[in-house]
Amino acid sequence: MPQLTCPVDQTNLHVSKTAGEESAQCNRCDGIWITTAALESLEDNAANDDIVKGQRQYGKRVVDHLCPHCGEKMVRFRYRGYNLEIESCSSDAGFWLDKSEDREIRDVMKRRGSNLGRVASAEKSWHQARRGEKTSIFQRVKQVLGFR
Ligand SMILES: [Zn+2]
Ligand SMILES: [Zn+2]
Repeated sequence: MPQLTCPVDQTNLHVSKTAGEESAQCNRCDGIWITTAALESLEDNAANDDIVKGQRQYGKRVVDHLCPHCGEKMVRFRYRGYNLEIESCSSDAGFWLDKSEDREIRDVMKRRGSNLGRVASAEKSWHQARRGEKTSIFQRVKQVLGFR
Protein backbone atom coordinates (compact mmCIF):
# COMPACT_ATOMS: atom_id res chain seq x y z
CA MET A 1 0.00 0.00 0.00
CA PRO A 2 1.46 3.44 -0.86
CA GLN A 3 1.48 6.19 1.78
CA LEU A 4 -2.12 7.15 2.43
CA THR A 5 -3.45 10.22 4.21
CA CYS A 6 -6.49 10.53 6.41
CA PRO A 7 -9.49 12.02 4.53
CA VAL A 8 -10.52 13.89 7.68
CA ASP A 9 -7.31 15.43 9.06
CA GLN A 10 -4.63 14.60 6.43
CA THR A 11 -2.49 12.68 8.90
CA ASN A 12 -0.40 9.90 7.35
CA LEU A 13 -2.20 6.61 7.88
CA HIS A 14 -0.52 3.75 9.68
CA VAL A 15 -0.80 0.54 7.69
CA SER A 16 -1.26 -2.70 9.56
CA LYS A 17 -1.85 -6.23 8.46
CA THR A 18 -4.56 -8.35 10.01
CA ALA A 19 -5.57 -11.81 8.86
CA GLY A 20 -3.35 -11.32 5.80
CA GLU A 21 -5.19 -8.16 4.75
CA GLU A 22 -3.99 -4.61 5.01
CA SER A 23 -5.94 -1.79 6.52
CA ALA A 24 -4.79 1.74 7.32
CA GLN A 25 -5.58 3.56 10.52
CA CYS A 26 -5.30 7.24 11.45
CA ASN A 27 -3.54 7.73 14.76
CA ARG A 28 -5.14 11.14 15.22
CA CYS A 29 -8.86 10.42 14.69
CA ASP A 30 -8.74 6.58 14.75
CA GLY A 31 -10.57 6.38 11.44
CA ILE A 32 -9.90 3.31 9.33
CA TRP A 33 -9.42 2.82 5.60
CA ILE A 34 -10.14 -0.62 4.22
CA THR A 35 -9.80 -1.50 0.56
CA THR A 36 -12.58 -3.16 -1.36
CA ALA A 37 -10.08 -5.88 -2.29
CA ALA A 38 -9.46 -6.58 1.40
CA LEU A 39 -13.18 -6.69 2.04
CA GLU A 40 -13.73 -8.98 -0.93
CA SER A 41 -11.19 -11.46 0.30
CA LEU A 42 -13.09 -11.93 3.53
CA GLU A 43 -14.91 -15.20 3.74
CA ASP A 44 -18.47 -14.25 2.88
CA ASN A 45 -18.81 -11.97 -0.14
CA ALA A 46 -22.59 -11.61 -0.10
CA ALA A 47 -22.90 -8.47 2.02
CA ASN A 48 -19.88 -6.97 0.35
CA ASP A 49 -21.49 -7.43 -3.05
CA ASP A 50 -24.42 -5.43 -1.72
CA ILE A 51 -22.22 -2.57 -0.67
CA VAL A 52 -20.14 -2.45 -3.84
CA LYS A 53 -23.16 -2.60 -6.10
CA GLY A 54 -24.94 0.01 -4.05
CA GLN A 55 -28.00 -2.08 -3.39
CA ARG A 56 -28.02 -1.31 0.30
CA GLN A 57 -26.86 2.29 0.26
CA TYR A 58 -29.26 5.00 1.40
CA GLY A 59 -28.98 8.77 1.54
CA LYS A 60 -25.91 8.86 -0.69
CA ARG A 61 -24.14 12.21 -0.93
CA VAL A 62 -20.72 13.52 -1.87
CA VAL A 63 -18.66 14.86 1.06
CA ASP A 64 -15.54 17.05 1.24
CA HIS A 65 -13.31 14.20 2.47
CA LEU A 66 -10.78 13.19 -0.16
CA CYS A 67 -10.29 9.50 -0.82
CA PRO A 68 -6.90 8.19 0.45
CA HIS A 69 -6.70 6.08 -2.68
CA CYS A 70 -7.56 8.39 -5.58
CA GLY A 71 -7.93 11.87 -4.06
CA GLU A 72 -11.48 12.26 -5.31
CA LYS A 73 -14.30 13.30 -3.01
CA MET A 74 -15.79 10.40 -1.13
CA VAL A 75 -19.44 9.35 -1.08
CA ARG A 76 -21.12 9.06 2.29
CA PHE A 77 -24.14 6.84 2.79
CA ARG A 78 -26.23 5.00 5.34
CA TYR A 79 -25.70 1.30 5.23
CA ARG A 80 -28.70 -0.98 5.00
CA GLY A 81 -31.01 1.72 6.31
CA TYR A 82 -29.38 1.66 9.73
CA ASN A 83 -28.14 4.85 11.34
CA LEU A 84 -24.66 3.76 10.33
CA GLU A 85 -22.81 5.98 7.90
CA ILE A 86 -19.68 5.03 6.05
CA GLU A 87 -17.77 6.69 3.24
CA SER A 88 -16.80 5.06 0.02
CA CYS A 89 -14.30 5.76 -2.74
CA SER A 90 -16.25 7.01 -5.75
CA SER A 91 -14.55 4.33 -7.84
CA ASP A 92 -15.06 1.60 -5.22
CA ALA A 93 -11.39 1.29 -4.20
CA GLY A 94 -12.32 1.12 -0.53
CA PHE A 95 -14.20 2.44 2.48
CA TRP A 96 -13.57 4.85 5.32
CA LEU A 97 -14.92 4.24 8.81
CA ASP A 98 -14.92 7.10 11.31
CA LYS A 99 -14.12 6.62 14.97
CA SER A 100 -17.49 8.16 15.85
CA GLU A 101 -19.07 5.28 14.00
CA ASP A 102 -17.88 2.96 16.74
CA ARG A 103 -20.80 4.20 18.75
CA GLU A 104 -23.18 3.74 15.86
CA ILE A 105 -21.92 0.24 15.28
CA ARG A 106 -22.61 -0.52 18.92
CA ASP A 107 -26.10 0.93 18.59
CA VAL A 108 -26.78 -1.18 15.54
CA MET A 109 -25.61 -4.26 17.39
CA LYS A 110 -27.78 -3.40 20.36
CA ARG A 111 -30.75 -2.96 18.06
CA ARG A 112 -30.08 -6.29 16.39
CA GLY A 113 -29.66 -7.85 19.80
CA SER A 114 -32.90 -6.47 21.15
CA ASN A 115 -34.73 -7.55 18.01
CA LEU A 116 -33.62 -11.04 18.84
CA GLY A 117 -34.13 -10.56 22.55
CA ARG A 118 -30.44 -11.05 23.11
CA VAL A 119 -29.13 -7.62 24.12
CA ALA A 120 -26.64 -9.05 26.56
CA SER A 121 -25.08 -11.28 23.93
CA ALA A 122 -24.77 -8.41 21.44
CA GLU A 123 -23.15 -6.25 24.09
CA LYS A 124 -20.79 -9.03 25.02
CA SER A 125 -19.57 -9.51 21.46
CA TRP A 126 -19.20 -5.74 21.15
CA HIS A 127 -16.98 -5.60 24.24
CA GLN A 128 -14.97 -8.55 22.96
CA ALA A 129 -14.50 -6.74 19.66
CA ARG A 130 -13.47 -3.57 21.51
CA ARG A 131 -10.77 -5.28 23.53
CA GLY A 132 -8.73 -6.33 20.52
CA GLU A 133 -9.15 -2.82 19.01
CA LYS A 134 -6.57 -2.79 16.20
CA THR A 135 -6.52 -6.51 15.55
CA SER A 136 -10.29 -6.72 15.60
CA ILE A 137 -10.85 -4.25 12.77
CA PHE A 138 -11.89 -6.95 10.34
CA GLN A 139 -14.19 -8.48 12.89
CA ARG A 140 -15.77 -5.10 13.34
CA VAL A 141 -16.03 -4.50 9.61
CA LYS A 142 -17.62 -7.89 9.23
CA GLN A 143 -20.14 -7.05 11.92
CA VAL A 144 -20.88 -3.71 10.30
CA LEU A 145 -21.44 -5.25 6.90
CA GLY A 146 -23.48 -8.12 8.23
CA PHE A 147 -20.85 -10.80 7.91
CA ARG A 148 -20.90 -13.63 10.40
ZN1 LIG B 1 -7.62 11.14 10.88
ZN1 LIG C 1 -10.95 6.71 -4.36
